[in-house]
Parts: sequence; C-alpha cells; structure tokens
Amino acid sequence: MAQGDLTCDVHIIGGGPAGYTAGIYAARAGLKTVISTPAALSGMMAMAPTVGNWPSQVEPAPGRDILERIHDQALNAGAEVVLESVAGVNFSEERGLQVFGGAQVHVARAVVVATGAMSPAEKVPGEEDFLGRGVAYCVACDGPLFAEEPVIVVGLDQHAAEEALALSEIASSVVFATPARTLNLDDHLAGALAETPNVTVETGVRLQEIVGDQSVEGGRFKDTDGNERIIAGTGIFMYLRGNEPATEFLLGAVDLDEKGFIITDELLATSMPGVYAAGDVRHKVVRQQVVAAGEGAVAALSAERFVRGSERIAMQRGIAR
Ligand SMILES: Cc1cc2nc3c(=O)[nH]c(=O)nc-3n(C[C@H](O)[C@H](O)[C@H](O)COP(=O)(O)OP(=O)(O)OC[C@H]3O[C@@H](n4cnc5c(N)ncnc54)[C@H](O)[C@@H]3O)c2cc1C
Repeated sequence: MAQGDLTCDVHIIGGGPAGYTAGIYAARAGLKTVISTPAALSGMMAMAPTVGNWPSQVEPAPGRDILERIHDQALNAGAEVVLESVAGVNFSEERGLQVFGGAQVHVARAVVVATGAMSPAEKVPGEEDFLGRGVAYCVACDGPLFAEEPVIVVGLDQHAAEEALALSEIASSVVFATPARTLNLDDHLAGALAETPNVTVETGVRLQEIVGDQSVEGGRFKDTDGNERIIAGTGIFMYLRGNEPATEFLLGAVDLDEKGFIITDELLATSMPGVYAAGDVRHKVVRQQVVAAGEGAVAALSAERFVRGSERIAMQRGIAR
C-alpha cells in the first residue's frame, strides 16, 4: 500500500475511556475505525484503584476493570486496536490525515486525539506503595472514602486549595501542606481557607515520604530550616505535579493552550479540519472518566459527520475510497 492510501475512516489516538468510547460510536456508525494505544489497558483510568462514580457501577470497582469492558465493547463494535505509541502526525497531506504509529503510517479521513493528561512519572517515596490505600488525587473521585477522617492535601496552587476546601466538608480535619512560603491565592479562597475551622494551613513544608503500615498514616515533611516531622492523616491528596497533556507528538499540528492542552469548539473540533479531541487532553475544567467517555461520543459523531461530508466531496472529485 502506498503511503498516501487511506487505511481507515477514523483513527483514534489513545485507549482510555475517551478513545474507546469514540471507537464504539465510530465503529457502530459503520466507519472503519482504528485505535492506537501503547497497551490495551493504559492511561489514568487504568491506574485508578477504585472508581465509585461511574454510572451503573453500583459498587466501586478498579478503573482497570471498567476500562476493560469499554475496550471489549469497542472491539465487539468492530474497532481495530493497534498496540503502538503514536510518535507523530502530518495533517497537511491532501489525501488523508497521517498518523505515525510504531511500524506503520495510518492515513485517515478523520482523527480523534484522546491521549489524556497523565502526571509526569516522578513520584514521592511511598506514593506508589500506598496507591489505593490512602493516596488520592481527586476529591470528586476519592473524597467520600475519607469521610470523618483526618487528611492531608499537598499542593501549591489555587486548584489544590479548592480541593482542600471541598475536602473539609467530608473529612474530620484537613491539613493543607504546601512547600510555598506564602500562598498566592485569590482573596476569596484565602479567606475561606482561613475561616474554615477544620482546615489548617502549613506553609514552607516539603513532603519527603508518605508513611504508614498497611495504609497511609501520614507524611514526613521537611521545613525550610531542615527540620523533619510527621503530619498525621489517613489520606493524602497529591496536587504537586499537576497533569501534563500528552500532545508533544502533535508537533504543533493543532492549536494548543499555554499548557499544551488542545483547544476545541463545542463539537470538539480542533483548529485542523477533520481532527477532533476528547477527554483529559482538552483545554477544559472538569477531568473525569464519565466526561471523557461522553466527549469520546461527541468527537466520534463529529468525525462521522466530517467523514460523510468529505466522502461526498471525494466522490464529486472522482477520488476513490
Ligand atoms: C488514581 C486516579 C484515580 C482516579 N479516580 C477517578 C474516579 O474515581 N472517577 C473519575 O471520573 N475519574 C477518576 N480519575 C481521572 C480519570 O481517570 C481521567 O479523567 C480519565 O481517565 C481521562 O480519560 P482519557 O481517556 O481522557 O485519558 P486516559 O484515561 O489517561 O487515557 C489516555 C490514553 O491515551 C494513551 N496515549 C497517550 N499517549 C499516546 C500516544 N502517543 N499514542 C497512543 N496512545 C497514547 C494512553 O496510553 C491511554 O490509553 C482518576 C485518576 C487517577 C490517576
């Protein structure tokens, strides 16, 4: 097959809830659909130890188990899953959008980017050991697991402070521990933190290690004078790293915001015709699995509309499918 030949109608990059849901919709619409992902079960949902806010999931379950069902559903619908990491794209070819996989070049009529926003790999000692046993990253996801318990929120910014405040409504007490000597928060948030009786703010403390036996019992922190102490808590919510969008491989082919998230319109179209984005990789506020899945559906429906339209144009121009 020549490099410019079409290999599918819709090429989806990423195998998380956004990518696999896009795959279900595109394949069920009768489009030849290919999904590239480095592993069948990967991304943030695959890492989530328990998920309690997935509709129809009456009892919380590991994110991996839920993702496996979405993956299987995409396969059943007819999508092809190729295990590879996409290294680059070329969206300026006239006869199709090129996606450079591990061993092959895919050429698609439409592309859905659903590569998520994983945290960079560097972890605090103890963080991986206690994942699912007291280490958490999101109050909407895991806050209810710590009802009436003492928790620690570690972070630097406005988002971390907002999460600490949200947690104060659930937990018995919250220590907001920050390595910053002074916090740069808006006045309203700073006032709310100061006035909430079960929140304590500890500035100038850097987390060295998460400690515990079977589950988290606290964090070992070092202050600016080099003194170390344990802050106790049965949960520790981590907001130090933030999430980084997986968009380097796009090499500037679509418009990104200043942090590298993809800018889309209401139909999840990017700045490049025929290229859509769904899930955590998008510039937006709420990053949750159910939202990612919903966006996968929207992106696939938009891609379908684009493909059907471009099919008509191709037929008018005499370009074979
Ligand atoms: C510990 C933890 C607990 C969480 N708990 C919850 C919860 O309870 N409820 C909730 O709603 N949300 C929770 N979240 C957040 C949720 O997991 C994410 O919002 C959701 O997974 C985003 O879906 P996504 O498909 O956009 O991205 P992801 O799930 O991150 O999937 C991205 C996919 O893209 C692939 N990919 C990346 N780069 C490439 C590339 N170059 N080529 C090909 N593929 C690529 C990845 O391998 C992965 O398959 C949790 C997250 C974590 C880490």
